[in-house]
Amino acid sequence: MSRFIRADLDAVKEYVPGEQPKDMRYVKLNTNESPFPPSPKVTEAVTKAAKTLNLYSDPELTALTAMTAKTYGVDAECLLMTNGSDEILNFAFCAFGSKNAPFVFPSLTYGFYPVFAELYGIPYVKIPLKSDFSIDVNDYRNVGANIAIANPNAPTGKILSVKDIETILSSNREHVVVIDEAYIDFGGESCIKLINKYDNLLVTRTFSKSFSLAGARLGFGAGDRELIKDLKKIKYSTNPYNVNSLTDAAGRAALEDYEYYMNNCSVIAKNRDFCAEELKKRGFFVTDSKANFLFASHLKLSGREYYLKLKERGVLVRYFGSTGAENFVRITVGTEEQMNTLLYETDKILAGE
Ligand code: PMP
Repeated sequence: MSRFIRADLDAVKEYVPGEQPKDMRYVKLNTNESPFPPSPKVTEAVTKAAKTLNLYSDPELTALTAMTAKTYGVDAECLLMTNGSDEILNFAFCAFGSKNAPFVFPSLTYGFYPVFAELYGIPYVKIPLKSDFSIDVNDYRNVGANIAIANPNAPTGKILSVKDIETILSSNREHVVVIDEAYIDFGGESCIKLINKYDNLLVTRTFSKSFSLAGARLGFGAGDRELIKDLKKIKYSTNPYNVNSLTDAAGRAALEDYEYYMNNCSVIAKNRDFCAEELKKRGFFVTDSKANFLFASHLKLSGREYYLKLKERGVLVRYFGSTGAENFVRITVGTEEQMNTLLYETDKILAGE
């Protein structure tokens, strides 16, 4: 730190992204990326867009926003496209949180929520999960604070129904409820349609997982148009060209191939359920995940040990070591072949080889 940094920033603990090691080729199951490449249309569109990189990108992202609106059946004014969904989450904490407008979120959830809260000096409370790692909706009635919930939750993969989300929305009308649907395409029901009914709902989505575009950085927020205007204020006060023109082109081409991506999601969901069953047969406890990852623990193997042993064998999973999850690893679901490699190496580890 230099002596010039703002005093309150000193205490902020930054978000630590998952490892992206370069020392060898791993079976990479640690950052919830898609194992499938983007469709050829995306590559083609990006190559074409590269020819006009001398020009600024469209700050309004009119075409991309219109396509996204059509895909999800919402009005374009109810959308804001962002640089990954991390950016829309950042905007939401920045716009809606303050000393007098704290945030609450589950005790075990996406690690960026507390980071944003600390960055903006927003007080926050972590609400414990139930013993089966699910969220108790009753804990979120009339909380008197803004709420952020990942649905499915990460790293547990557990999901709340749209009805449960409505219960939360209707009992917190004076506060913003952010529903982070980064993993919704892998088997959950989206609550995006509720933005027309609840002006306190912000749904955040990403192209990183289900649309194979993690490296492009594209996400969006959907909400009441007044809420979106607030978030646009932050965008235009920080980074008006927040989505670059290559990503703009990639996003539009990806939406044109919607079926290709949704089909990939079904394959991943199938691989997830197969792998969960196989891990259970080997004595693992696995939560009922509706996301593209599994949250698993074993009585005879600590989470850290399992992570390290898999890494030695060229399989990379994520170990958090966070309170309540010390014994767990999060395993991204990849191709059937990748899952079979994971199971093969797991058998060797369990056999002490
Ligand atoms: N929300 C959740 C729950 C996540 O796990 C992630 C991935 N790190 C994100 C949001 C952000 O993803 P991205 O910025 O790539 O859209």
